Amino acid sequence: MTPETPGAGSPQIATPSLSLSAGRLAAWGWRGLALLGFGLYLWAWWAVWKLIEPMIPDTITVDLVVRTITVEEIRHKVLDAASLLVAMIPFVLYVEAILVGWEKSSVRRILFARTESIKMDLACLAAGQTPVMRVIGKVLTFGLSAGFGVWIHDELSKAVGFNIGLGFMPDIAQVFFYFWLYTFFDYWTHRIDHTYFFWPLHRYHHSTEDFCVITSLRSHPAAFLGVFIINAPMAILGAPVSVMISVNLIVTTIGLLIHSGIDSDWGWFGKWVIQSPNHHRLHHILDYKTHGVGNFAIAPIWDHLFGTYKGEAGPELAIGVDKPLYRQGWFFFIDLFRDYWDFVKTYALFVVGKRRID
Ligand SMILES: [Zn+2]
Ligand SMILES: [Zn+2]
Repeated sequence: MTPETPGAGSPQIATPSLSLSAGRLAAWGWRGLALLGFGLYLWAWWAVWKLIEPMIPDTITVDLVVRTITVEEIRHKVLDAASLLVAMIPFVLYVEAILVGWEKSSVRRILFARTESIKMDLACLAAGQTPVMRVIGKVLTFGLSAGFGVWIHDELSKAVGFNIGLGFMPDIAQVFFYFWLYTFFDYWTHRIDHTYFFWPLHRYHHSTEDFCVITSLRSHPAAFLGVFIINAPMAILGAPVSVMISVNLIVTTIGLLIHSGIDSDWGWFGKWVIQSPNHHRLHHILDYKTHGVGNFAIAPIWDHLFGTYKGEAGPELAIGVDKPLYRQGWFFFIDLFRDYWDFVKTYALFVVGKRRID
């Protein structure tokens, strides 16, 4: 019942509140659907895992010249790392949606307003996950890195006569220490990624035109060397695998957050402790030839120390790669091959002493 009806046009008065509640209902409906989507995503992961689990060897042995490296309990490690990653993506999507609102959230853009750039992110994510090979590849690289590091750690400890490492500290203190160690090596591998030789592979990540939480996972599959180099120092200094996994989890979460649509420089925290989304956007700036590339580090302290910190970050900077042209969309793999070819060509031309390609 309408309490008051001021004149002939009264039925129109009720319409806005009705449509508002319908709008709210629809919004909740979408949220419910999004939640269902996550549920299906988790279920699909579990189903695929059960399918491939029997096909994965639980132990691999690699014969190197100096030593045989054995990585054991692979299934367990794959599941640990994968399940953490699977849990982190929905978590960061949720946090971002709370902070920026439904309209600007990555979830809404992924589900209902896909740009070509987001389609490419999704295609990369799907290609990396459906066969689960990428995760297995990463874990094996990680495992090898750990195995190789442990060998150097043992040899070094033998040479100096005591066990080098931080085993005497509680796990939480170790995670803190190794996180900083990790970010130091991550800073340098990322800076190297921006050199002439490695740019053809790293620019694949920079090809995004539109930040979305899952952009963090857009990386060229051939760019796996960094995972090995960044993790080995932790193992050399005696970090337990559980601590290494925790550090990787923290770093993965930061990676998802800094590619989100959160419009913030995080104040002093973003300036000194952990990189903010706005500063990572500045790192992705399209017009980098004019502005110069900076902000390589997850922990900006390294950028300050090595003179690559840039301060003028903002949410509206255009990002991407102007050359070569990336086609975005679902058929990302054509560019994937082109970039790999450019990478090989760069080296081949260098070896035969020819001019560098542009
Ligand atoms: Zn970069
Ligand atoms: Zn990035």
